[in-house]
Amino acid sequence: VLAAAAIAVFVIANRILYYSAEPEGQKQCPPLFPENADADAATSTATAESWFTSTLPWVQKGGRVNDASCLDSTAVFGVVQVRTENDIKLAVEFAKEKDLKVSIAGVKHSMGGHAFAKNAVVLDMTQFNQVSLDARAKVMTVQTGATWHDIQKFLQPAFAVKAMQSTDIFTVGGSISVNAHGMDHNAGSLGQTIRSFRIILPDGSIRTASRSENPELFRLAIGGYGLFGVILDAKIDVVPNVAYQTARAIIDYTEFPKLFAEKIQPDPAYGLMYGHLSTSPSSFLKEMIVYTYKETSATVNTEIAPLGDEVAAVKLRRLVVNFSKHGPLAARLKWWSEKYIEPRLETCTVKPRAQAQAEGEACLVSRNDPMHDSVPYLRNNLKNDTDILQEYFIPRDQFVPYIDALRGVLRKNNANLLNASVRVVHKEDNYLTYAPADAFAVVLYLNQTTDAAGNEKMATLTQELIGLSTAFHGRFFLPYQLHYTGEQLHTSYPEIAAFFAAKQQYDPQELFVNTFYNKYKSIE
Ligand SMILES: Cc1cc2nc3c(=O)[nH]c(=O)nc-3n(C[C@H](O)[C@H](O)[C@H](O)COP(=O)(O)OP(=O)(O)OC[C@H]3O[C@@H](n4cnc5c(N)ncnc54)[C@H](O)[C@@H]3O)c2cc1C
Repeated sequence: VLAAAAIAVFVIANRILYYSAEPEGQKQCPPLFPENADADAATSTATAESWFTSTLPWVQKGGRVNDASCLDSTAVFGVVQVRTENDIKLAVEFAKEKDLKVSIAGVKHSMGGHAFAKNAVVLDMTQFNQVSLDARAKVMTVQTGATWHDIQKFLQPAFAVKAMQSTDIFTVGGSISVNAHGMDHNAGSLGQTIRSFRIILPDGSIRTASRSENPELFRLAIGGYGLFGVILDAKIDVVPNVAYQTARAIIDYTEFPKLFAEKIQPDPAYGLMYGHLSTSPSSFLKEMIVYTYKETSATVNTEIAPLGDEVAAVKLRRLVVNFSKHGPLAARLKWWSEKYIEPRLETCTVKPRAQAQAEGEACLVSRNDPMHDSVPYLRNNLKNDTDILQEYFIPRDQFVPYIDALRGVLRKNNANLLNASVRVVHKEDNYLTYAPADAFAVVLYLNQTTDAAGNEKMATLTQELIGLSTAFHGRFFLPYQLHYTGEQLHTSYPEIAAFFAAKQQYDPQELFVNTFYNKYKSIE
C-alpha cells in the first residue's frame, strides 16, 4: 500500500510540475503548412551575406518565425529590429530594391501567420515603443511597437486606456490592425478611440490618416492586417483611471441579453464588463458568470496603487488551465474554482482613503488593473498540445439561440473548450468590419493536439463554427487560424473583394504581405 501511495504521489507531483512549468522559449510545433516552413532555394541564395546590408539592424538572418499558435513556423528572409522611423524607411527601401516582400510583426499573437510571410523581410516593431501623453486633451501618442502593458504603466495612476484587449500583452500596431476590443462595453473597439495615425506607404511616403484626413486609408488600415503600410504612431484616447467596485453574478445564459440591455448598458456607472460561460459538462454553456466593474460611492476618494509587473500565482494559474484540459472532472473542477475559489483570491488594489467610506467589504480596483495581465500562464511546455483562440460576432438578439446551437456543434465535435467569454462590440465602421451592427462577441479558447489528427479536427470544427456564425448573420474574427474556405471568407465578409481591390490600388507591387493575404487574395 505504501509503495502504491508513493508511486501515486510521485506521478501526481510529476504532473503538477509538468503542467505548471515555465516554458522554455517559444513553443515550436509541427507546421500546419510545411511548405511555408521550408526555405526556398531562391531565398537561400538571396540570404547570402552580401544582401544583409550593415545599415539595417538585423536580429535574424534567414531562419524561421512563428506565432502564438506554435503551428505557423515560416521561413523568412530575415527580421529587422526597428527602433527608429528611419530604420523602417530603410527596410522598406531595401526590400523594394531587392524585390523582396515586407511583413510587419508586433508580438505575433495572431494565429494564422498574419505578422509574417514566407521569404519576407519581417519588421519587428517591439522596440519602436515611445509613448507621450497630452493630459489636458486626454490623448496619448504612441509608437506602434509599444505594448499595452508598458502603456498602462506609463499612464498609471491618473489615466487608463479607453479600449484595448482584455489582456495587455499586445502591441498597439497589432491591435489597430485587427481592430481589437475587450472589456469596455461602452467604448467598443479600439478603432473608435483612434484620433489619427501616421503610416508609411509602399512608395515610402508618410501620410496622416484620420476620420477627416485620408479617411479611406484610415478605414482600410484599422483592421487592415498590415497590408496598407507600416503604421508608425497613433493618437489614441485615454480616460481617467477611476476606481471600480467589482462584482460577479452567476446567471443562466438566457438572462444575459436582458441583464445587459436593461441593467448594465443604460447605467453609465458600469465601466467594464464581460461574461464567462461555463465549460463544465454539468452546466456547459448554460451557467454564466457576469463580471462587472462599477463606480459607486465606495470608489470616490480612493488611493490608486502602482501597477504590479505581473499577475500573481502564474504557476498556479498555468496548472489550473493545463489541468482543465484533461477530462470532464478537471473541467468541472475548473468551473467550480472560478465560481467559488477565485472570488476569495481576488486582489483588491485600491484602498478607500477613509476606511469608513467603504461599502461593506467592497473589493475596489483601478480601471487599469483587470486588463493588466500579460497572460504568462497561457504559455506552457506541454508536448503535442496547443491552445487556439476563435471569436464570433453574433447579432445581440440572436445570442440565446446561437449559444444553444454552439453547444451542439462543440459537443458533436468533442471539442476541448477551455474558456468561453462574452463581450460587447458596437457597429464598427472600418472597411473590413467584423461588426456591421451591434453584436455580442463570443470568444472560444480551444485545446488541440498538434499532430495531423489534431489539426484536421480543428479544421473541421472551425469550418462548422464559421458556418454556424454565418447562419446567425454573424461574422468570425480574422486574426486566427486559416482553416476557413475562400467561400466562407467571402460570405462572412462581403467587403473582402473590395478590400483586396483597394490593396491593389494602394500597393500595386504587393510590397506588404502576410500568410493570410497570400492564401486568400486570389480565392473567390
Ligand atoms: C491569448 C489571446 C488573447 C486575445 N485576446 C483578444 C481580445 O481580448 N480582444 C481582441 O480583440 N483580440 C484578442 N486577441 C487577438 C489579438 O488582439 C490579435 O491577435 C492582435 O493582433 C495581437 O497583437 P500583436 O501585437 O500580437 O499583433 P501581431 O500578431 O504581431 O500582428 C497582427 C497584425 O497586425 C499587423 N501589424 C502589427 N504592427 C503593425 C504596424 N505597426 N503597422 C501595420 N500593421 C501592423 C501585422 O502585420 C499583422 O497583420 C487575442 C489573441 C490571443 C492569442
